[in-house]
Amino acid sequence: MQLENTLRYIDEHMESAVSDLLDFLRIPSISTSSDHEADMRAAAEWVRTRLENLGFASRTYDTKRWPVVYGERCRVPGAPTLLVYGHYDVQPPEPLEEWISPPFEPAIRDGEIFARGANDDKGQFYTHILAVEALLAANEELPINVKFLVEGEEEIGSKNLAVFLKEFRELLKADAFVVSDSSQFAAGVPAVTYGLRGIACLQLEIQGAKFDLHSGLYGGVAPNAPQALADILASLKTPDGKVAIPGFYDRVLPLEDWERREMAALNLSTEDLADSIGAPGLIGESGYSPLERKTARPTLEINGVWGGFAGEGTKTVIPSKAGAKISMRLAPNQDPDEIFRLFEDYVDKVKPAAVTASVQRQFHASPVLVERDNRFVKTASEAIAKGFGRKPVFLRTGGSIPIVNLVKDQLGVEPLLILGWGRPENRSHSPNERFSLDDFRMGARSAAILIAELADSD
Ligand SMILES: [Zn+2]
Repeated sequence: MQLENTLRYIDEHMESAVSDLLDFLRIPSISTSSDHEADMRAAAEWVRTRLENLGFASRTYDTKRWPVVYGERCRVPGAPTLLVYGHYDVQPPEPLEEWISPPFEPAIRDGEIFARGANDDKGQFYTHILAVEALLAANEELPINVKFLVEGEEEIGSKNLAVFLKEFRELLKADAFVVSDSSQFAAGVPAVTYGLRGIACLQLEIQGAKFDLHSGLYGGVAPNAPQALADILASLKTPDGKVAIPGFYDRVLPLEDWERREMAALNLSTEDLADSIGAPGLIGESGYSPLERKTARPTLEINGVWGGFAGEGTKTVIPSKAGAKISMRLAPNQDPDEIFRLFEDYVDKVKPAAVTASVQRQFHASPVLVERDNRFVKTASEAIAKGFGRKPVFLRTGGSIPIVNLVKDQLGVEPLLILGWGRPENRSHSPNERFSLDDFRMGARSAAILIAELADSD
């Protein structure tokens, strides 16, 4: 295996790789909007062509919404098979006026690429393409078998990918899975992510009277829906920041001592974190550090609230309806269905008798905890150490990555390598999304080393 030549290839071909990535970033592949049908197909075809040019047997599969791209180069019998995942769709770019340069006209400033999708996920995903290109340029064949799975619905819930995985279970068989769609711990502190929180989203609706009422004629007797909603919402947390729903914490897997030590060593201070979000302070569950609270402990957040009159001036009304959207991030071993049920039972118990409350369950995903003690994770960790020139830290992350659950549950593929090359401040989903050229290069190097070293890590 010519690793030196492979890495040199990456370093020497940065310019052409970046210019190719910029072409990818110019395609406004916004999955949520049907107006972008042509762009979505163009982005899928762009990926398919790249894979084909690298000698991968590749095709796009139509789904009910956006195509899935699949490619494989499996020419080393007996060697492990790595399944690489990425997504070619992006979030809508609005608000447009906040972009320094237009979202789909990529610009490079101070060593960073600015564009929608630069970090999430086109730029991060492209590192794996570049890694394969470099390996093939420096060697006659890839040292292991590699499969690519690239979808166009990540930003809208990966619904049809789930169907695809079921149908093509055999095709997607692999010994390990890698995704680069997350982030380092901080700039220059690469990470291997081994824990993801789950999620349970719901809508809570309160109904008092059948219609809105005059507050002079009915004030003092008629149930007020926003007031009832506020009472319920206020009862969801205790003063020390815990979720008050009985049973909510019963299944939570406690943090182990070594995890708490590792997290403490990362030194994320309350002041720095508050500063970084521009807030006067932080909130949260007592007894846990900010890093523990934002990555490993479960939470409940009110995402939106509505009800009554909020226009200019006054309207003396007793609103009959009010509602809220709520999401709960779940820690390993919590079960979304059980959490929904506990929430519903609790609301039933605490809601004022004069209103009705209904809960609609929405999106949910289970938490994931990846086994750390295996050769794939060790090899990934060593690859990053060489690629970035610094040993990675092991991290849990507060978010959910639906593909990881799907791959685990439907394909049964483990280990899951969650290797983010981005930075937390790269503004995924926000205006002025960016991806550092250094991280692009070091990510590609790490991805190449990973493939090279998986060949001899028996
Ligand atoms: Zn993403």
